[in-house]
Amino acid sequence: MDTNPMAPASHGAPLSLDAAVERLRTHLAGDVLLPDADGYDAARLVWNGIIDKRPAAILFCKSAEDVVQAVNVARATGLPVAVRGGGHNIAGASVCDGGLVIDLSRMKAVRVDPKRRTVRAEAGLTLGEFDTATQAHGLATTMGVNSDTGIAGLTLGGGFGRLGRKHGLACDNLLSAEIVLADGRMVTASATENPDLLWAIRGGGGNFGIVTAFTYRLHPLGPRILGGLLLHDFAHAREVLRFYRDFAAGAPDEVSADAVFLTMPEGQRMLALSICYAGPVEDGERALAPLRAFGTPVADMIAPVAYTGLQASADPLFQRGRRYYWKAQFLKLLPDAAIDALMDGFARAPLPLSLMVLQQVGGAIARVGGDATAYGNRDAAYDCFPVSIWESPAEDERQIAWARDCWTAMRPFGTGGVYANNLGDEGEDRVRAAYGPNYARLSVLKAKYDPDNLFRLNQNIQPAR
Ligand SMILES: Cc1cc2nc3c(=O)[nH]c(=O)nc-3n(C[C@H](O)[C@H](O)[C@H](O)COP(=O)(O)OP(=O)(O)OC[C@H]3O[C@@H](n4cnc5c(N)ncnc54)[C@H](O)[C@@H]3O)c2cc1C
Repeated sequence: MDTNPMAPASHGAPLSLDAAVERLRTHLAGDVLLPDADGYDAARLVWNGIIDKRPAAILFCKSAEDVVQAVNVARATGLPVAVRGGGHNIAGASVCDGGLVIDLSRMKAVRVDPKRRTVRAEAGLTLGEFDTATQAHGLATTMGVNSDTGIAGLTLGGGFGRLGRKHGLACDNLLSAEIVLADGRMVTASATENPDLLWAIRGGGGNFGIVTAFTYRLHPLGPRILGGLLLHDFAHAREVLRFYRDFAAGAPDEVSADAVFLTMPEGQRMLALSICYAGPVEDGERALAPLRAFGTPVADMIAPVAYTGLQASADPLFQRGRRYYWKAQFLKLLPDAAIDALMDGFARAPLPLSLMVLQQVGGAIARVGGDATAYGNRDAAYDCFPVSIWESPAEDERQIAWARDCWTAMRPFGTGGVYANNLGDEGEDRVRAAYGPNYARLSVLKAKYDPDNLFRLNQNIQPAR
């Protein structure tokens, strides 16, 4: 076997872990962390505290060249390979037992081009870091609702959030990406270079290679925009949700309105409408007036706020290290019976940290053609998922059962589709449900770019045979 880790694929005997570590320690600018090292136990943890995996080594990359070296050595060992951006994947796919974790969290360079309204962002950035860098220029693009999430996994799976209905998914704003393929080649995916690869990574997840940097289109925004929570007592949630449904269906693209059932620290159950208006504050005041006037909110916290502050406002609900389980599905409509099922489900939540989420999609997301990118399910109106959150392992069974029961109760109202980034370890049928008719083309491209399925610890697309 070639001793140069930059060498292309070789089909000799697998490289031993010891030899792999030695090579990486020589060639990697970043660090190699083994199970006996200080810091290993912290480094193997991911956002979801239920995940308890022990990789053989964690490879902290500092540059795209490091990623090339890591991929070549990893491939030569034959060990499982996990790829980690922000570590937020609910199923813990970015860490593995006995394999190698290629970690990008130290790759955080970000460069905004305010004239062109673009940004080149390395794959280790969190949403908060990304938003801070782009907002320094009064610009933004769609990212998710928890500032601790990684831009990499989020963008590769699709990426919706408060700006999605106005500007499309994160992956719709992705202009190009720098990628290390399974054979160690570094390539660009853009409209002009490897356009089929760009198509595939706009929703197809980590199946096609390791992205080291993304270039996105940006849009003027803020820095202050209208947003915040409208809180209603659970007792009135049924009529509020019915009004919300009709309001949301007719709202302009600038409005993003998520509905979340939660329990206040004092124990009171609430329906929170999480609102953002992605446009001038005065226009937002007008557009949101009917929603704010309905019923008797316990609190109206909608106000002009810094966009970066709004983007971090849900962080306390999603603290790193707690135990989490969710099961998601898309909805097109929200009939009264679905509202009843949501309310009944939340009323049965065993512990107060848990949530029931309706994340609004549609708008610009739905106007992109169904086969224009790998992301499926563009016709959905909401992503619906019970979020089980708890702290004691003794509660695992009860908490997981609650979320699954809620999902089953909502099943009659679902489209059958699911967001790949909200999938747990749920089997091939559910991966196919995430991509619908796009699965077949993804499978062909998987065979082209990763025929041996090196990148399989993800929502895995099987290479076409
Ligand atoms: C609290 C919370 C809130 C969320 N909110 C939203 C939201 O508002 N909108 C939304 O769209 N999603 C949301 N998500 C889902 C989120 O998009 C996924 O969890 C996503 O995988 C997170 O990306 P990450 O880089 O942190 O994940 P990681 O766990 O690091 O990676 C997940 C997977 O992505 C792939 N991957 C990661 N980095 C790379 C890379 N550089 N190259 C190739 N493949 C890579 C790998 O397959 C990996 O297994 C949320 C998740 C959480 C936990």
